[in-house]
Amino acid sequence: MSEHTLFTRIIEGEIPCYKLYENDHVFAFLDINPLAKGHTLLVSKEPAPTIDQLSPDSAAAIGKALPILSRAIKKATGAIAYNIIQNNGREAGMTVPHVHFHIIPKYAESKHSFTWQPESLEPLEGQSIAAAIQLDINE
Ligand code: AMP
Repeated sequence: MSEHTLFTRIIEGEIPCYKLYENDHVFAFLDINPLAKGHTLLVSKEPAPTIDQLSPDSAAAIGKALPILSRAIKKATGAIAYNIIQNNGREAGMTVPHVHFHIIPKYAESKHSFTWQPESLEPLEGQSIAAAIQLDINE
């Protein structure tokens, strides 16, 4: 696990940012290449590369900070809606391997979208993948 990711350098003040919020576990700042006005990154101070490697304390702190930041961003920007996006791994579009959540406001005039083409879940596949995931959770 790299201790000196780009986001660690931002958290430590080595790289400047538009800081919004900080506590013992999390740090939030404006994305430098925003998809929309107020596009925010909420980062765990713990430099876990992906969320499955994050400690329970950091995960809880992120869960607590998300609604606080979302409320403030909505109020400050007048956004009518917002998306929370979280990429894990390069193949999933992650460019900075340090856990972070994007909070992306949506305005009436916004053009960006996060649409995908869903498929039907076949019953047998549903049963088998649900059983495999449950088994892992219960181990
Ligand atoms: P992801 O693709 O999910 O890993 O997102 C990484 C995000 O970090 C991108 O949206 C970048 O625009 C953003 N980013 C990269 N460098 C900086 C920086 N120095 N300050 C603020 N945001 C940054």
